[in-house]
Order: sequence, then C-alpha cells, then structure tokens
Amino acid sequence: MSSTAPPTATPTTTHWRALLPRPTTGAVMLLLMALAAPLAAQEAAPEYAEEIRTLLANPTVSSALELAEEHDRWALDLLIELTEIPAPPFMEDVRGERFAELLTELGADSVWTDEEGNVIGLRRGTTGDRAIGFGGHLDTVFPEGTDVTVRQVGDTLFAPGVGDDTRGLVVVLSVLRALEEAGLETEDDLLFVGVVGEEGLGDLRGMKHIYREGGLRPDVWVEVDGGGLSRLVTMGLGSVRYRVTFEGPGGHSWGAFGTANPAHAMSRAVRYFQDVADTLTRSGPRTSYNVGRIGGGTSVNSVPFESWMEVDMRSESPESLARIEEVFLDAMQRALEEENALRREGPSLTVDPAKIGDRPSGELEPSLPLIQRALASTSAFGVDGELGRSSTDSNVPIALGIPAVTIGRGGIGANGHAPDEYWVNREAYLAVQRALLLVVAEAGFAGPVS
Ligand SMILES: [Zn+2]
Repeated sequence: MSSTAPPTATPTTTHWRALLPRPTTGAVMLLLMALAAPLAAQEAAPEYAEEIRTLLANPTVSSALELAEEHDRWALDLLIELTEIPAPPFMEDVRGERFAELLTELGADSVWTDEEGNVIGLRRGTTGDRAIGFGGHLDTVFPEGTDVTVRQVGDTLFAPGVGDDTRGLVVVLSVLRALEEAGLETEDDLLFVGVVGEEGLGDLRGMKHIYREGGLRPDVWVEVDGGGLSRLVTMGLGSVRYRVTFEGPGGHSWGAFGTANPAHAMSRAVRYFQDVADTLTRSGPRTSYNVGRIGGGTSVNSVPFESWMEVDMRSESPESLARIEEVFLDAMQRALEEENALRREGPSLTVDPAKIGDRPSGELEPSLPLIQRALASTSAFGVDGELGRSSTDSNVPIALGIPAVTIGRGGIGANGHAPDEYWVNREAYLAVQRALLLVVAEAGFAGPVS
C-alpha cells in the first residue's frame, strides 16, 4: 500500500472519507476500501470485521495508525541499533537493558526485568480487568563473537538477527510509541515484553517462566515473530530434544579391542530408532525426527570413551510426540544392552539421554475472539490471514489453552538463522499498524486519554 492519495473510488469511498476525522493518508483509505471487499477464505466472522471497521473510523485510532507510518524512519534506525547489540542464547541481558530503557522512554507506566531476564513494560488500561501480553524475543541464534554490524544497501539491512527477531522487538516498541503519542487508551492492561530464550537451547525458558504457576500469566498473548502479514500462528508445533551420551572405558583400538565401544552403540541406537520411527512417521499427524549433531572420540586408533548426539523430534500432536519420544528412549536402551552383550572384556557402557528441549504443542479454536480479530485486522490490509502451525513463544500459552497468536514482522525477511540474513524495509509499517489494530481490538478501545 503506498502513502499517495487513493485512486478516485466509488461514491461509497467519498462516504467513508466523511467518516474520517481529518484527511488521512492513502493507507487508511485503502484499509477501509479493503474492508468493503468480500473477505478471503480464512474469513473473520462479520461481527469482528465490523468491530475493526468501527475502530478504523475512530479518529484516535486512525491517528495512531498514521503515527505508526510516520515513525517508519525512526523504526529503521532503532532496528539497526538493536541488531548491533548481540543477544546470543542465555546472553540477552545487554540488549534487554536497552529494551527496558526504550520502554521507559516511550512511556510505559512501569518497567521491570523478571528473574528469568524477560523485560516487561506495563501500560495500564482504564479497567485493567485483563492483561494482554504483547512480545517479541530478545535472543538470536547467533553465538557470542558473531559480527552483528548492519550493512545497509538501499532499504535492505544485512546482519545476523536483523529479522529474527530484532524486527519483532521494533514492532512491539513502535506500537507502544504510536499508542502513547496518539493518546489512545485501552480498557485492559498491556504488557510490552522482550522475551528471553526462544531460540535453540533457550527452550522457551522466558515464556515458561511468564506462564509458570504463580507467574504473570497474561490472559492473552500476541507474539511478533516470523515474516510477512498473512501467517497467523495459532497452533504450536511441539518438540522434544535430547543430547544422548554413551560412555565407556575407552582404550587402544588394538590392545583394547573387544571393549564396549560407545560409537558402535550409538550407531546401533540410531538404526534401531529409525527402523521404528520411519514407520511411525509415515502416517497420522505430521511427526519428524532428526539426528542433528554427533560427536565424541579421541583418535582413529582409540576406542572412544564417549559418543554423543543431539536429536530433535517434533509433532503436530502431543500424543504422537510422546509416542516417538518413547520409541527413541527404547532404542537407546536396546542398543546399549545389545552392545554390552557383544563386549568381550571390560566394563559395560552407560547411556545418558539428557532432555535439552521440551516445547509443548497444541491448537486453538479458530472461533476464539483473538483469532477472529487477528483475521479481521489482517484482512483490513487486503491480506488473507492464514492460520498456521509453528514453533514460537506462543507454544506455551497455546498448550495451556490460553488465547495466543504469533503474527508477522512485516517487510521482507530472508535467510533467518543464517549469517547472511537480511531484511527489507518494504511497507514495514503495515505490520505495526496491523499489530496495533489487533492489540487495541483485543484490549478494548477506551477512547482518547482524558
Ligand atoms: Zn524467532
């Protein structure tokens, strides 16, 4: 959507223009026109489309949307600044501190960092009956020492982590700034959150802490992660991950031949696992398994004293995930027993299957108001919202049956999790506008600040 004047539309457009408090940019006009068009397949129920239409016609809301567009240059500079603050797994604190400063500067009522390192900014609502969590993750996959300097070519930014999920953090902060400057009040409290530990071995530790018994546990969660505008993640892809270590006495490959060999045991274990897992994953809910990393061993002419592997298993269904995990553990045990039975001398091997990841899975009913609002606020931009499944911070509330959705960062992102990641600032403000519309609709519009 461009910010030039809208094409001369049908008479209805003129009627729509009369609704608007003051001349607005093309963007909002096109928003209203898109709403007049029939909604796409993943349609929101009419009452939610109407709710969004009413919000769009409100002068305070449309001025907040305008501000979000006007702040585009500021948002780009902020993205560069935050990207250049490294945030490897378990090392998000420096970026977290800057995020906390920004929450304060942009007008959050109170800001704090919890025991796990999540950074939270509260913006009080007029009633505070509910709390709406709105977040992005602070961490990136890139280890300490990665060069995160941003290289800019036109509207494209090249740097590890520039998209995933630093841009998500910028969307969260941009919504706060637009709400504050427009003086837009909500009924429910809003929690603007920089979440730790979404990536890799962080294992959703930030969200698990927020939703632990007695934790903050917001009534609703909106996460910004992933690309584009259309994808609305309302189903959590669960996964379990293991680092399995087989250990033995080791020794000289000739002199100690016949000693139980952990590498042989591990190879056997992979085979036994795959023999069953392959059949298991050929039917039923989509389920996957992957031996991602292996290691161990001293030298070619030594019996290793340790062999390890890291294994990832995922499934759309919690039951299928539990089943493949069971098959996995059985295969480890069986391989151990058989390899030990084959040894000719020395002590038995041991195996330690250490669980290093546990991301819950689940699905939410599309009829939930939050999901309907996500569909309606997305189609307001002429984009068909598509309900999808993925592994994001929203997995935790989704698995608990708490309304949650992960929405896109906007712009054009590519090569996530790779050093040559880049992000294009192409109409990126639309993602901020959509997020703002969704959050205000869910939290309840309470009018301009009185
Ligand atoms: Zn991410």
